[in-house]
Amino acid sequence: SKKAVWGPLVGAVDQGTSSTRFLVFNSKTAELLSHHQVEIKQEFPREGWVEQDPKEILHSVYECIEKTCEKLGQLNIDISNIKAIGVSNQRETTVVWDKITGEPLYNAVVWLDLRTQSTVESLSKRIPGNNNFVKSKTGLPLSTYFSAVKLHWLLDNVRKVQKAVEDKRALFGTIDSWLIWSLTGGVSGGVHCTDVTNASRTMLFNIHSLEWDKQLCDFFGIPMEILPHVRSSSEIYGLMKAGALEGVPISGCLGDQSAALVGQMCFQIGQAKNTYGTGCFLLCNTGHKCVFSDHGLLTTVAYKLGRDKPVYYALEGSVAIAGAVVRWLRDNLGIIKTSEEIEKLAKEVGTSYGCYFVPAFSGLYAPYWEPSARGIICGLTQFTNKCHIAFAALEAVCFQTREILDAMNRDCGIPLSHLQVDGGMTSNKILMQLQADILCIPVVKPSMPETTALGAAMAAGAAEGVNVWSLEPDDLSAVTMERFEPQINAEESEIRYSTWKKAVMKSMGWVT
Ligand code: ADP
Repeated sequence: SKKAVWGPLVGAVDQGTSSTRFLVFNSKTAELLSHHQVEIKQEFPREGWVEQDPKEILHSVYECIEKTCEKLGQLNIDISNIKAIGVSNQRETTVVWDKITGEPLYNAVVWLDLRTQSTVESLSKRIPGNNNFVKSKTGLPLSTYFSAVKLHWLLDNVRKVQKAVEDKRALFGTIDSWLIWSLTGGVSGGVHCTDVTNASRTMLFNIHSLEWDKQLCDFFGIPMEILPHVRSSSEIYGLMKAGALEGVPISGCLGDQSAALVGQMCFQIGQAKNTYGTGCFLLCNTGHKCVFSDHGLLTTVAYKLGRDKPVYYALEGSVAIAGAVVRWLRDNLGIIKTSEEIEKLAKEVGTSYGCYFVPAFSGLYAPYWEPSARGIICGLTQFTNKCHIAFAALEAVCFQTREILDAMNRDCGIPLSHLQVDGGMTSNKILMQLQADILCIPVVKPSMPETTALGAAMAAGAAEGVNVWSLEPDDLSAVTMERFEPQINAEESEIRYSTWKKAVMKSMGWVT
């Protein structure tokens, strides 16, 4: 067959909590040309602990790159057209490794992990000055969610980590840092860096000065020499050192939620997106201004697309458990064999029949920040079956989003007219319709759902020295959308929502 002619292409690594993907886009049209995906194991060594193997994560990235390149070859697309690679990643997840051997010194402690609950309690008792010390610098509440407390735990409890710090061999990083260091050469010259969006989730980063904060590092007991260099989200960090894409610059890096905001082209103040993955994260662009929430939302760095470009901030509503509840129904209860099957079960009944499921497996994040909460299923009767529970699980994701949106509207003042969505769960049509019904506004989904990867690719392609992507929204205005209009009346929706809130109250105070 005739060899197709392509303009420059851009690749993106999307390293999520559930899986790793590598995707290749045409930089002219944002068309997705090929991709490959590998599911990642999660280990639960004790109640509340969540770990992943950093080596498995790295190998999955290499595997996805190689397989995607093979698929492109089969499509007669020359992989030498790939001019840049972006990285987007699960945020906060913490890795410490040895820079001499390249070996991780412990498993990655995943963002959902709760082992640091007592650390958080004791730290919160000795916050210096006023209670706002951490939040005013970082935009974050003191919680098990963020890297600083996970790193503190590793330094306190893992002899190998302590030894490596003493010997000046330890490096800390979130998943982006671990991947970029490894992909750019690891023990032979790997670049130890992170971007401002990932740094803003560590709780060690001052989101005003955009630097590591000495006072915060002292407070959390973190030696500053193990921290990565902080760079913008769009610049050349280094070159791929091995594999099919050896020599290609890695020139974009964004935490997954920031990447989705960019991929959804939410560049204007007030534009927002909601991503339904393992958890659920609603981010609203607040421009160059840090807006602090009075309703349990986080202030976070949205992106900084170039060394000399301005920083943008976002208000974020974080929900810990969304897709993870579907995975739990699959792996722990076994009532579905694949995540997709939940749609069939839910459709069979079309209602939860008064059953409410609060999946507070890791406590409750926004807007409650309640570590004492645990999951509950309530409103059961003799009549309840697995289909109702499946439906209630999907509805829980929608109710949690409604709580975030309510908080966002109160903080921002201007209610959203529609909700832009993406993420693995959005292929579920029942979920999308339920979401529109519960919010009473339309839900709008791009037909190319891989917006996280697209955002990372856009950042990589727009980097100085690469310059294959203009980042002009006009170029991408051809993106087609799927819309879900609210179908039930607002009154019915309010009744269901207020019963949900009752259920949430019952989920609190289980752990003391
Ligand atoms: P992450 O970026 O956190 O790895 P993804 O965006 O890849 O997550 O989404 C994966 C999550 O979505 C999994 O938790 C999975 O259970 C859930 N999921 C995938 N497909 C469906 C579906 N059709 N219905 C409901 N949940 C789904």
